Amino acid sequence: MRIIKVRPFGYMVLCESRLFSCNKPASYVSSGLPSHYSKYFSRIETSGVYILLLIAVASATFFLFVGNAFSVESGFPDNNIRVIKVKAVADEEFRRSADWVEEIEGSIKRSSAFYEEQFGIKYELVQIGEWVSDNNIKDVRTLLSQLKNEVERDGSDIVVGFTGQARNVYKCVFSRTALGIALPFSSYVIVRADRSTGFDYHTMSLVLTHELGHLFGAMHVDGSSSVMSTSINNNTSFRFDDNNSELIKLTKFVDFDKGLLSLSNESLDQLIDKYKDSLEYGFENAPRRLLIGSMYYKRGLVGDAIGQYEAAIKLDRKDPEPLTHLGIAYAENGLLDKAIAVLSKAVRLGSNDGSAHVNLGMALVRKGMLDEAIDQVEKAMKINNDNPEMHCILGGIYIRKGLFDEAIYECRQALRIRSTYASAYYNMGIAYQSKLMYDSAVNAYKEAIGIEYNNLMARNNLGMAYYEQGFMGKAESEYLKLLQIDPANEMAINNLEAVLLAKREVLICDIE
Ligand SMILES: [Zn+2]
Repeated sequence: MRIIKVRPFGYMVLCESRLFSCNKPASYVSSGLPSHYSKYFSRIETSGVYILLLIAVASATFFLFVGNAFSVESGFPDNNIRVIKVKAVADEEFRRSADWVEEIEGSIKRSSAFYEEQFGIKYELVQIGEWVSDNNIKDVRTLLSQLKNEVERDGSDIVVGFTGQARNVYKCVFSRTALGIALPFSSYVIVRADRSTGFDYHTMSLVLTHELGHLFGAMHVDGSSSVMSTSINNNTSFRFDDNNSELIKLTKFVDFDKGLLSLSNESLDQLIDKYKDSLEYGFENAPRRLLIGSMYYKRGLVGDAIGQYEAAIKLDRKDPEPLTHLGIAYAENGLLDKAIAVLSKAVRLGSNDGSAHVNLGMALVRKGMLDEAIDQVEKAMKINNDNPEMHCILGGIYIRKGLFDEAIYECRQALRIRSTYASAYYNMGIAYQSKLMYDSAVNAYKEAIGIEYNNLMARNNLGMAYYEQGFMGKAESEYLKLLQIDPANEMAINNLEAVLLAKREVLICDIE
């Protein structure tokens, strides 16, 4: 009896996912395996190793300025309470006050009481710590990046960095002093206390309320009757305008890890309408367009997303962010040359967080221009070397080039920065498997699965590593497990068939 060799499908290199930013707004990246998996499934057979495109989805930056405002308020409670665990850290300037711990506790308590009454959202302070802010940083965006890079969340939902830096946080639009910063649907916030006038609980709680509003997607409004006004002072009341209030109700249960990606299509459709309504305010429309575009993108309406990004670019030609997103959207539609053109432009404008470089690199990978791609990722690393995603991506490109030792090195670098990074283990497994170092490959895949139970690609490759070694029983059991998680998984169905066929062949050979 002739043994027919049936090989499972080739591997995929998965490069996650969420490239977070340094100086620029956070970039959300689609990390959902199932959608990518099905989308790229057809490529698996032909190309063997395939690197997933890094997709950064938009967000905009918001600053809060000191100014004037006042108002009145009301609202209704919600029975459906969401509790948000907060880790608060204070920098050395903020800690100059002997009462800094009480100041933090008191401000969060006030803001939480307001959110609970209005939206059924409670902020629970689970940890207070210290943080040393870099006094050379000249703007609050960069300070936010520093906070993000240096302070772990430790199981909290969000981190609020309290700073007492006075002079250094000046450099802002209109040269007004920023009181805080938060990016929409993210998990890090900076609030600043102006110690020169003494600590004021009311103002601090207002600033906190404003910045926390941004985390739920609230946008600035003109005028002075809302806490989302860009001008806040101690006469401002705790009140959200109707539009932002409705927005927060829609996004109340957003997952700060996944951002927009965690919202249902129905919520996104309603949000898109809300943000479109807010365009009539006539200011900050570029970030609004960017946000609307990102929502369309998340909805899979790439053409509509492209329209919004292009509108954002018309409003602000110097911002690399919408160009980066436009490039990603073009790449998604297979328009690689256009993608490379706009991403190159974004890079020239100065990609502060490296995301334009990385996404350009990913488009170049798809064009087969691996050396140029490596060059771009290395440039991104020069901007931020502490980003585990970049090391993981570089590892993925090295795998494509057949440089497996270099790939393993980069995966280790990624894991040094983030020890629970499943995709780095996953890529490392592929590199070891390619070197036929099966024990190491199996261990790496198991680590990936230990971190992400539903990592279907690691499960697939683990099955394949067993198969290649002739451990058909183990391979079979891995594919059965995979199919338990995702019963319609074509790759697993195919590979299980291949394994069962191989088992039968072995059996027939034994009989002969
Ligand atoms: Zn703001």
